[in-house]
Amino acid sequence: MKLFPIRGGVHPEYRKEQTSEKAIVAMPMPRLLYIPLQQHVGAPAEVLVAGGDLVKKGQMIARSQGTISASQHAPTSGRIVSVTDVAAPHPSGLPQTTIIIEPDGKDEWADLPEPVADPFAADLQVIRDRVAQAGVVGLGGAVFPAAVKLNLGTQYKIEILLINGAECEPYITCDDRVMREYADEVIDGARIVARVMGAPRVVVGIELNKPQAIEIMTKAAAPFAEVEVVGVPALYPMGYAHELILAITGRETPAGKRTAEVGVVAYNVATVRAVHQAVRFGRPLISRVVTVSGGAIREPKNVLTPIGARVADLIEFCGGFSAPPARLVNGGPMMGEPLPSLEVPVVKGTAGILALTAEETNTQAASPCIRCGSCVTICPAGLSPVEMAAFIRKDNLEAAARLGVMDCVSCGSCSWVCPSHIPLVHYFNYAKGALNKQERERRKNERVKILAEVRVIRVEKAAEAKRAAMAARKPATAATPAADAPPGNAGQANTSSTAEEKTNA
Ligand code: SF4
Ligand code: SF4
Repeated sequence: MKLFPIRGGVHPEYRKEQTSEKAIVAMPMPRLLYIPLQQHVGAPAEVLVAGGDLVKKGQMIARSQGTISASQHAPTSGRIVSVTDVAAPHPSGLPQTTIIIEPDGKDEWADLPEPVADPFAADLQVIRDRVAQAGVVGLGGAVFPAAVKLNLGTQYKIEILLINGAECEPYITCDDRVMREYADEVIDGARIVARVMGAPRVVVGIELNKPQAIEIMTKAAAPFAEVEVVGVPALYPMGYAHELILAITGRETPAGKRTAEVGVVAYNVATVRAVHQAVRFGRPLISRVVTVSGGAIREPKNVLTPIGARVADLIEFCGGFSAPPARLVNGGPMMGEPLPSLEVPVVKGTAGILALTAEETNTQAASPCIRCGSCVTICPAGLSPVEMAAFIRKDNLEAAARLGVMDCVSCGSCSWVCPSHIPLVHYFNYAKGALNKQERERRKNERVKILAEVRVIRVEKAAEAKRAAMAARKPATAATPAADAPPGNAGQANTSSTAEEKTNA
């Protein structure tokens, strides 16, 4: 297949050899599991259990609510210890509502939904419902509810379903291993998603630094004419969906637009495998493969981890630290975030846990910009990081927004390439957070203003109706009862008017 040039990109040291040749291993069930209600984009799930309840493996313990949300399930059987606040695996470490489960060691399954007998003949809504019921979210980092994304096929004409197997982040190899060990499941899940989306073609994009994955996936795709596996250059951030789509189709997604608008939707390889599990077996998303790596980890591994296991338990399963880590990262070194503590849980979006030594981290102090322009050349979003950072430093966020800071995908390429070691991406993350907050405030004020205006109109209407009722009542109350009218008629009229008045009030 002919490939198209992409914009920008850098070549960091990939350092994937620490785990790429190690088969996935399952960690033993830890003593406690911590399941946050919010592990996805959208509204947190609604709790269905309380302290003391007994649950079975795969049982729904929190239900999705609202249009964009995802359900949570028990990763094993056991007892609910409590529903309480626990630190989130986010740099802020802020607490979030979490269900704590004490496993009972029996690992007893709940009654799962019946498998869909033939996903290629079943009603499309049945499949969408099954994916929603299973709490599947984007496992490549987006954590967007997969069932909601399936609806894109009803709004746009999707020509290509792109399966993202690029995995361009250094150190991280969980998708590589999923493709090598579960290729048939990935291809089946991709075909199911393509059917629901109405996409006639499926293209699996894999970086050329994963030759075994390309070979195995090509074999698994061979029986299906609509599926093609394509090797793409190893160039960070090829895994960013817009870049991969550009490389494979030549289609550029306009800033701020969905890829569906150019006829392509991208799903991560592990996500479509989870769709396969949900549809073919009725199994919810209760575990995921996590790469545990870095120079400070004694035995780097790809670990099948129950959702909710503490990072501390996961690291212990990997032999603990061989050296004091200089940096603990949730995700890859380019886009990952600092881990606030080892006590936080693994969630659906956790692709990697890295413990890096001082030699592996860039800890050099920043020096003044030398106007080399490298950050501009490599930015995949076509932005000017040097200028945006200058405005943000002066706290002129509006000017940074005009330059497109909200289109920054936080890939970190500009920080990586900067010879002055300026932590550019930190500026952009700060600015995006502040601008998002301003926007939320603006919308809130707008909503309050609209509500106030609606109230004024309602009060005016009620007053108007009241005046009209009073006017209508006047002749009746003023009139002298006719001599032959039965006594009490006037009183009846008065009673009736009073009731009407009450109704209008
Ligand atoms: S972090 Fe943002 S500004 Fe920097 S290279 Fe990536 S997209 Fe461009
Ligand atoms: S890469 Fe660094 S030094 Fe070069 S222009 Fe950008 S901010 Fe300045």
